Amino acid sequence: MTYAVSIRPQPVVPVEGSDRPFPVRRILCVGRNYAAHRREMGGDDRDPPFFFSKPADAIVPPGADVPYPTATSDLHHEIELVVAIGEGGAIFGFAVGVDLTRRDLQNGFKAKGQPWDAAKGFDASAPISAIRPFDGTIPQGAIALSVNGQVRQQAQVADMIWSVEEIIAEAGKLWTLEPGDLIYTGTPEGVAALQRGDAVTGEVEGVGTIAFKVV
Ligand code: MN
Repeated sequence: MTYAVSIRPQPVVPVEGSDRPFPVRRILCVGRNYAAHRREMGGDDRDPPFFFSKPADAIVPPGADVPYPTATSDLHHEIELVVAIGEGGAIFGFAVGVDLTRRDLQNGFKAKGQPWDAAKGFDASAPISAIRPFDGTIPQGAIALSVNGQVRQQAQVADMIWSVEEIIAEAGKLWTLEPGDLIYTGTPEGVAALQRGDAVTGEVEGVGTIAFKVV
């Protein structure tokens, strides 16, 4: 088969202990899944979490720099546990991700009731660690992000409003989850701005670490 235009390379994420990478189909993200972050975003405590998405090629693989995006002067970090979906919609593994956000654009879209795509789904907006294959234990422990060695976000995955199982069940009401889907499960409080030159490090207990530089 030849196509009318060139086919872009399949975005992939490395898998720990394997030479076979995870092919990314699409990226779903959960909004407002930690109560303290929902409050810092001005949300109503009664509103449940919700989904938005990023394109598969927003992935930034481990070890790559993140270019400071166009069209923003308020790029925010959001450390998140990431669920990787495998065959039959089952959990394949977990990773550490950062949901990068053009907060200034997002605030403008919220005020006008407009969609978030340009605030969330931009190029290189989804840094991720390698995927650790699922061992039967769903992560519940510490989640943290530091910038230039200073802690910005620090919480427990157990504090999520929707658990991993509930996120998968809720997503399944809206879409058929397929192998290659990634779900960024929401961020705890402490989101703040990044600048060019910042070194970002993050960790989810029992899952792994992430590190990248904003250039
Ligand atoms: Mn997020």
